[in-house]
Amino acid sequence: MPLVTPVTKLLNIRIPIVQGGMQWVGVPKLVAAVSNAGGLGVITALTQPNPAALRNAIRETRSLTSKPFGVNITLLPSINPPDYAGYARAAVEEGVKIFETAGNNPGELIRFFKSNGCVVIHKCTTIRHAKSAVKLGVDILSIDGFECAGHPGEEDIGGLVLLARAAKELNVPYLASGGIADARGVAASLALGAAGVNMGTRFMCTVESPIHENIKKTIVASSEQDTVHIFRTLHNTARVFKNKVSMEVVQIERRPGGAKFEDVRELVSGQRGKVVYENGDPDYGIWSAGIAMGLITDIPTCDELLRTLEKGTEDIITNLSTVVVKSKL
Ligand code: NAD
Repeated sequence: MPLVTPVTKLLNIRIPIVQGGMQWVGVPKLVAAVSNAGGLGVITALTQPNPAALRNAIRETRSLTSKPFGVNITLLPSINPPDYAGYARAAVEEGVKIFETAGNNPGELIRFFKSNGCVVIHKCTTIRHAKSAVKLGVDILSIDGFECAGHPGEEDIGGLVLLARAAKELNVPYLASGGIADARGVAASLALGAAGVNMGTRFMCTVESPIHENIKKTIVASSEQDTVHIFRTLHNTARVFKNKVSMEVVQIERRPGGAKFEDVRELVSGQRGKVVYENGDPDYGIWSAGIAMGLITDIPTCDELLRTLEKGTEDIITNLSTVVVKSKL
């Protein structure tokens, strides 16, 4: 029983599973592996140092897969504000047809992509933001529950309620995002009206993920207890791996009188977090991770992962129908 949904049709993919944008992780090798396995791989634009480098990453991905893939552009506070429009233009000129947008005030970007005939997936953490994005013309929403890695917004709504609300109120297809790493999560998302899922942390822990093997092993060894929120007091909340550096940031934020971004800048810099993925020391800097870590026990290839999820989801759906039928007898 193939998992055909509005998302598989819109994106022209086999399995309704999207690898969401992840800083330093969404690079051609992983993106192509996800797309070749039947999902949608997504290049993280801001991982590339400039729009010209993004062009090369898109070309490299094309040399590794003939399947559809997308580009993520995330609009959040940054130490060095990126040339968002330049990245967007470069990707459109390279012929990319699928974009994932996320973060604050995405209107201009969404209008640009839509005026160029692209499919836009917009990631958001409230139904209010989802409805604004629908007005801007997005094709698919990615509804990101509080369980997620990275930026969950400031309203702390878990996926169960957010997705059930989405089912009642949204008239465009949506992906479930945040806390999904196994077939139960995929099946539950479909039951909640989602037309597919978005996963991040799960894809960090695959053979083709570009991060150091020791960080993958750290994810396997960690549980749902091993994340913490930083930037709560700066209204830019981020769920990250709980380590010495993130706990120091939280302590600084709790000082009487609070903290300014400048007080934590050196600790939280993305350039420092990048080194974690390069040298494999999980304590070196800040790195994003979701509570889905509690569900991750292996480091499969993307192909193995997607096949396991597809088969597991189909089995759950079939068995659930059996249970429903039996309970009626
Ligand atoms: P960075 O080094 O610019 O900043 C590190 C962290 O500090 C980020 O979480 C950022 O949002 C936050 N930050 C920066 N300035 C801030 C301010 N004035 N007030 C409050 N918080 C502030 O980040 P980076 O790792 O080089 O990443 C570049 C951009 O990509 C950031 O905006 C980051 O949030 C975003 N990002 C994207 C993804 C994705 O999936 N595409 C994932 C993580 C982060």
